[in-house]
Amino acid sequence: MDVDEAHQEEEIVPHPHEILWYPDGDVVLATDTLLFKVHKLILSLQSSVFRDMFAFPAVDGVQDASNGNGAGVQETYEGLPMVVLIGDKGKEVAHLLRTVYERSYYYRDDDGTPLEKITALLVLSTKYDFRRIRSDVILQISRKYPISLKGYLGIDDDWAEMFGTRRMDCHYPLLNAVLKADVECLLPLLYYACSDYLMQGVLQNSRRLSMDPQSIIVLISGRDALKDRINSIVKGLPDEVRESAAQSCSSPTPKPCRKVAYFTGLDATCNTSDLGELNGKSIASAAFLKRACENCATHIAKFVDKKREEIWNELPSLFGLRCWKDLKEELAKLS
Ligand SMILES: [Zn+2]
Repeated sequence: MDVDEAHQEEEIVPHPHEILWYPDGDVVLATDTLLFKVHKLILSLQSSVFRDMFAFPAVDGVQDASNGNGAGVQETYEGLPMVVLIGDKGKEVAHLLRTVYERSYYYRDDDGTPLEKITALLVLSTKYDFRRIRSDVILQISRKYPISLKGYLGIDDDWAEMFGTRRMDCHYPLLNAVLKADVECLLPLLYYACSDYLMQGVLQNSRRLSMDPQSIIVLISGRDALKDRINSIVKGLPDEVRESAAQSCSSPTPKPCRKVAYFTGLDATCNTSDLGELNGKSIASAAFLKRACENCATHIAKFVDKKREEIWNELPSLFGLRCWKDLKEELAKLS
């Protein structure tokens, strides 16, 4: 074994956090890298998990080592009880504890909040049942992923800055966090956002984040269903222009649109899961629809937008989730 290997195998000793180490703290929380000397009362006031943990009676000075949340008091540190937060990363726990202690550390209306802070807060506030923090983070994410199609499309710019990075780089980390935190009202929106990737991108992102394989199956199945819905609408457009021409055509020429109008280049709108591309005004424009009168073009634009709305309404079911109405109610309860 050379020196480098010996160094790698050397155990990292967790050290006290530079801020979250209060002299009068009465419990030490331990993670893989950091220690936090904090107050049982402060944590108990906001978290039912810590409240229950601290309420366990001590046996011979050492409290129960397990509470079912991967945390337990197993030993002491400088005479104080030490709770080992199994599986939690020091940096992420620091985000949670600073939010608990510092009024200005996390603010749900601050769009500049870094993504890693948002995901850490969502996952850990759920794990330890800090309800106020959890609902604040969910409401903050929901503002960036609106439940209405119009609201969603109005904000859906891949390159827009969001949570300290590009919007497109937020989708997968947020989906992963929302899955871990079991926030169903955000799931269809994040599954939808994560659908607009090539299969290679889906697999690379899920591997990078070690995502739950079952959830990736749900994502890929929903993504395929979404593409099928969009393709079937696009394929039906030539029939629709013939149909609409029969009813409302205003062509003054001897040959009404049903005989002369045609679509071209529709392939560009196929095989996508992006409902932004299924845009009535764009598809009924001269770029795709040729030799159609104004009435027929308007009919096609409305038809496409109506079908797009129908797909959006169906979106949660494509990913095996409850309907929008139920999910809206779940979100409203958090406000
Ligand atoms: Zn016409």
